[in-house]
Amino acid sequence: MGHGGRILHFIDGRETPSADGRLFDNIAPATNEVVSEVARGGPAEVERAVAAARAALAGSWSGTTTEERAALLDRAADLIELRGEELARIESRDTGKTLAMASTVDIPRAIANFRFFAGAIRHEETGFHHMGSALNYTLRKPVGVVGLISPWNLPLYLLSWKTAPALAMGNAVVAKPSELTPGTASILAEILFEAGFPAGVFNVVHGFGPEAGQALVEHEDVLAISFTGGTGTGRRVGVAAAPLFKKLSLELGGKNPTIIFADAGFDAAVDSALRASFLNQGQICLCGSRLLVERPIHDRFVEKLVSLTKELVIGDPAAPDTFLGSLVSHGHRDKVESYVALAREEGGEVRCGGTRPDLPAPFDQGAFLTPAIITGLPAGCKTATEEIFGPVVTVHPFDDEAQALAMANGVDYGLSASLFTRDLDRAHRVAAALQTGLVWVNTWLLRDLRTPFGGVKGSGLGREGGKWSLDFFSETQNICIRLSEASE
Ligand code: NAP
Repeated sequence: MGHGGRILHFIDGRETPSADGRLFDNIAPATNEVVSEVARGGPAEVERAVAAARAALAGSWSGTTTEERAALLDRAADLIELRGEELARIESRDTGKTLAMASTVDIPRAIANFRFFAGAIRHEETGFHHMGSALNYTLRKPVGVVGLISPWNLPLYLLSWKTAPALAMGNAVVAKPSELTPGTASILAEILFEAGFPAGVFNVVHGFGPEAGQALVEHEDVLAISFTGGTGTGRRVGVAAAPLFKKLSLELGGKNPTIIFADAGFDAAVDSALRASFLNQGQICLCGSRLLVERPIHDRFVEKLVSLTKELVIGDPAAPDTFLGSLVSHGHRDKVESYVALAREEGGEVRCGGTRPDLPAPFDQGAFLTPAIITGLPAGCKTATEEIFGPVVTVHPFDDEAQALAMANGVDYGLSASLFTRDLDRAHRVAAALQTGLVWVNTWLLRDLRTPFGGVKGSGLGREGGKWSLDFFSETQNICIRLSEASE
């Protein structure tokens, strides 16, 4: 962060203001205080950052070996770990999430992402295809300058999920973090530079999506875009990138079902559904915002879920017993609240929450909303099919497997699902029939970084994670060598 509480762009190894000096306010949503000013970038800053990235690719960066890049990634992980407390504090301040969540999930997972991709390239094997008369081998090359656009819900975690593989494969990066959560991206830029990545290899341009983000997507020298964000924005990114034939990875929204069969371990299923509903204030793309519960246990399940939800502590994000901090902004709270009102209009019963809690100063000014559980809605209504991305869930009874699947698949999204049953055959059958990129059985949010991550339908395009990330952030080239004319 620059002097006087200013967060500047990071271009070519230096903190850089916008050419026209424009700034915008960074607001802590838990208190509604302005905590810093942020440089507001646009096409001019994207141009400078892309030029710096191109220069880095033309310089020493392109000559680095796999082992050198892996060592740099490990060093970056060490430095993030060293500054872990500071990063967690800033993440909690910018997002309103609890400090506990930032320190036990966001920052450790950012560290893990760098260590994981350091290991991944050390152990990577590329293709080799022998034909008898010829042999083929596959080279992996960096794509070039890649643009990384990330959302506000898990700011450093998701940016590092893209940055680590992009750098591992030898690309140069221009990142555009969410305007709502600029703090940790700038610190990451400092850390990567300190770790030894050459100037221009990792650049950050702050600003608003339609200005800085759009300019990055439209820049003809940016050859790949990895975007995580909402489905509507993803569509705009796709429309801008497609005519330029950019590589495109889109990780978009979700309306994920949690399916609970009557034979499930009841208490474990309720606990898991509770976390899936409200962790990070329900602002995780993988949150289970639709609970489909087999009718014989529906009422008991709702009763237990409501009673556990009422016990969740909401308020000061830094207090150790707080489970729910504030939403990311007042504007976002308005949007989430409007869905609670819509649910009532659509005939739903709000069983708990959906209100602004009575909190002491300074949190009385914050964007808090108590966690809401809604029953009695038809599964096809707007509240139950549109992504709300907040602490609001709907619960729906079902009578058999076919109905559960029809409800689970009856939305425009297809990111993840979790199902709870003790019947192994059913678990396999239902999991395979779900139209989602990820399925959890008897758990939620258990992640192995080697596995493919991404969604179908309106939840996105492509996969990231493990070798899928390495594929996305590289161009493969096949080289075929004829061995001898005689053997043809
Ligand atoms: P968003 O509004 O779509 O923004 C995502 C990013 O795109 C931000 O950096 C945003 O900048 C930028 N942006 C906005 N308009 C743009 C444009 N025209 N061109 C280029 N970039 C543009 O999403 P969000 O509200 O930050 O995040 C919540 C959404 O992300 C939810 O839908 C959630 O499901 C999804 N998400 C998906 C995953 C996944 O892995 N599938 C993970 C996490 C979140 P500004 O902030 O300045 O607008």
